[in-house]
Order: sequence, then C-alpha cells, then structure tokens
Amino acid sequence: MVSEEHWIVAGAGLTGCLAAVRLARRGIEIDLVEKRPDLRVADDDHGRSINLALSTRGLDALARVGLDERIRQDGIPMRGRMMHAIDGALTFQAYGPRPEHAILSVSRDGLNIALLDAVAAEANITARYEHAVVAVDIDTAIVTVEDADGRQYDIDADAVLGADGAYSRVRSHLQRSPRFSYEHDYLEHGYKELTIPPAPEGTHRIDPHALHIWPRGSHMMIALPNPDGSFTCTLFWPFDGEVGFDSVRDGDAAITTFERQFPDALDLMPDLADEYVTNPTSTLVTIRCRPWYHLDKVLLVGDASHAVVPFYGQGANAALEDVTILCDELDRHEGDRATAFASFYDARKPDADALADLAIDNFVEMRDRVTSRWFLARKRLKNLLAATMPSRFEPLYTMVTFSRRPYAEAVAKAGRQDRVLTVVGAIVLAVVALIVALAVVVGA
Ligand SMILES: Cc1cc2nc3c(=O)[nH]c(=O)nc-3n(C[C@H](O)[C@H](O)[C@H](O)COP(=O)(O)OP(=O)(O)OC[C@H]3O[C@@H](n4cnc5c(N)ncnc54)[C@H](O)[C@@H]3O)c2cc1C
Repeated sequence: MVSEEHWIVAGAGLTGCLAAVRLARRGIEIDLVEKRPDLRVADDDHGRSINLALSTRGLDALARVGLDERIRQDGIPMRGRMMHAIDGALTFQAYGPRPEHAILSVSRDGLNIALLDAVAAEANITARYEHAVVAVDIDTAIVTVEDADGRQYDIDADAVLGADGAYSRVRSHLQRSPRFSYEHDYLEHGYKELTIPPAPEGTHRIDPHALHIWPRGSHMMIALPNPDGSFTCTLFWPFDGEVGFDSVRDGDAAITTFERQFPDALDLMPDLADEYVTNPTSTLVTIRCRPWYHLDKVLLVGDASHAVVPFYGQGANAALEDVTILCDELDRHEGDRATAFASFYDARKPDADALADLAIDNFVEMRDRVTSRWFLARKRLKNLLAATMPSRFEPLYTMVTFSRRPYAEAVAKAGRQDRVLTVVGAIVLAVVALIVALAVVVGA
C-alpha cells in the first residue's frame, strides 16, 4: 500500500508502537514521539519484573504484525484463579470450560521491547526517544515537541494519533475544544507491586499456572508468575482504614498486617518490609471522554481515550485491539480519514464504556464474591452449560477474555443468559418444592 500521508504517533507504549508499525505498513510516514528513553537501551532497570495478563484480543492484534508467537514463547499460561483463604486453604477456579482457556502472564517490558524491535524494522518510522509532546494544534496537526535538553521545535503532519496513555497530553489539547467531554474517576483503592522471589533452585514457590488471589472482602492481593521463577504481587488496598496505605506506613507495620491478612504469602516474601517502603503506591483511575477525534487531524487510542482499572486484565488487550479496529476502519474508508476516525469512535466507544464498568465490577468479584458458595456454584453451573451447549451458552468471562466479540455485545448477551438462568432456577426450585409438598401429603 502506498500513501502520501505523514502521521505523528505520540507515545511508544504498547498501543503507540503497534499503531506505528501497522500504519507504516500501510505506507504512511510516521514520526513516533516518546518521552522516555528507548527501553531497549535504557539503563533504568528498576530491578523489578512487572507483568500483565494477555488474552485473545491482545494476541490477535500482535499476530497481525507477526509477534504473537514470540510473546507466547515468553509467556506463562494461567489456567484459572487460585484463591488463598486466610487459613491457607487453596481453591482453584478454571477460567473457562476448555483446557485452552488460559490467559498469558507476560513481561510488560518484554512486550514493549518486542514492539520497539518491530518499530525499528520499519523504514518509514522515525522514532524520537526522549522527546515529549508538549503541545498540539488540533486544527492543523502541528505538534510541538521538547527534547531532553529542553529544546522545543514543531513537526507538522497530516494527522496526530494520541497513544500517550491515561494522562495524555494530546487529549489535554482536545479538552480545550468546545463540546469535548471528559471525566476521570479515582478508586478509593491504590496499588503497590511486591515480589515473591524464586525458590533457591530457581523454581516457582507456588503454582505458576494460576493467577493467585488473596481475597479479603474490602481489599486483596494478586500474584502473576514470571519466567525467572518469581511472582509479581500487587496489593490492592484502600488508602484509608486499618488495612490501608495511609495507615500501614512502614515495613514493620506491613509485616504485622501481612501476618493477619496474608500469612501464607508472608512466608514467601523475605523482602516485604523493604519493598513495601521502597516501591511506589499508585492510584487507579477510569477515564471516559468523548469524542476521541477532531476532524481528520487528531485521534486518541488506548489508555489516552479509555483507561480502565486493571481488574478484568483487559486494558492493554483493549488498547491493542483498538489498533486492529482502527486499521479495519481505515480500510473501509480508504482516502477519507475523517470518516474513518468517526467510525472508529462510533464502533469503539460503547465497548470502552462497557469494559470500564466490567473492570470495576470485577474488583468486587475478585476481592469478595469469589469466596461465596452461591457465586462458586453459579460459576460451575455456567461452565457446565458452556461445556454442554457451547453454541447457546457462553460465560461472560469467556466472551470477554477468549473471544473478540465486542465488549458491549458480550455484556448484553450475558445479561440475557443470566435472566434465562434465573427463570430456569426459579422453575426448578418451584418443581422441587412441589415434589416435596406432594411427598409430605402422600406420606401423611
Ligand atoms: C497495575 C496495573 C495492572 C495492569 N494489568 C493489566 C493486565 O493484566 N492486562 C491488561 O490487558 N492490561 C493491564 N493493565 C492496563 C495496561 O497497562 C494499559 O491499558 C496499557 O499499558 C495501555 O497502553 P497505552 O500504550 O495505551 O498506554 P501506556 O502504556 O501508558 O503508554 C503511553 C506511552 O506514552 C508515553 N508518553 C506519555 N506522555 C507523553 C508525551 N507527552 N510525549 C511523548 N510520549 C508520552 C509514555 O512514556 C508511554 O510510553 C494494567 C494496568 C495497571 C495500572
């Protein structure tokens, strides 16, 4: 495909890199502007291995640039949730009715580096690392960038793709335009990453093929495996309250809290006190805005347009899927970028909103509902129905995680299924009650 176009992509995170590669392969000249140093050569190893869960949507998007196999090889499949009760009892809950229903724990940096390698292989991408986007003229697509020495200069282009994350500078310029709506919502919980190091022989200290959860009602910890035998744990605590980041202030207090809340994990975390103090505590935000585009000049993708809280493990998957859908719309509206941008937004906005709600709801499920017998029984019934009638019944988690069915459609279908289940359940209960009543009458 040959194109005369020149785009600026702001941000060389997961979304920006994938978008730059796909657009470059359409023949578009790309300036990729990233405020951080090139991750492949940067010497800022924080000594921590941070991972994320990748599933069908993300892997499908990566397959389109031939990266899925590389990522699969480096990833660890997790087949379900392993719940750790306070007394150390373990309960396993499979992610789906079929054995191939596994999500992949991958290194966040590893994934970004694979994408940066793909960027470097494209002749028509100019990557400018340590360059920050500082201003965007949204009517002309002229972008002011600032280099590491503080020098500013302009780049003009046909279009600007804002892939610069939840705190997007590109979006901040759209926010100044009339009728642009923006809303951010912080959770009362924050998060802190900690580590379970490998056993002395280099193996994992707990089952590497599960996503581990320590659900405690109002808060929780999770752990995802890394290939080096370690686990990255994430503590999701409120800021306020007895078990809260503002109350648990030092390493000793962290150990005391772990003794009460996560005793089996404490035994596996020799560096807890140090890490608790050293590692940052971060906030969790949902961002909703509209519209994501301005004329044929500016378009937001990934977290810049729809950051979600991480509890469905879908933020990056959705961000990568954005690129697939954007390229589909550019194909459908070849030569008419304004319509392609508008159709991308129309197609994707309901899904982004549905995902934002799902992600918040799944926090309650992970920290609380997973311990309820009723919830577990209903989950087992859904998996049984899915295994016996796969064309009729699909659990919501399966549709979201192991298919590319649009998020909003998945939510609507799950709602219909739930209503049928409730009616059938009520009928079954009524029949059982009738049989019992008849037995009592006949017996009398
Ligand atoms: C704790 C946590 C756990 C998560 N776990 C998962 C998970 O398991 N699965 C999942 O799918 N998702 C997960 N996510 C979500 C996922 O991290 C994001 O959705 C994803 O990183 C979004 O990618 P992005 O490229 O859109 O944005 P980002 O990853 O934020 O990348 C934006 C890039 O833009 C650059 N940038 C920013 N401002 C400028 C500027 N002014 N000029 C130039 N460059 C700039 C940044 O340096 C960065 O490189 C998690 C998120 C959190 C917080």
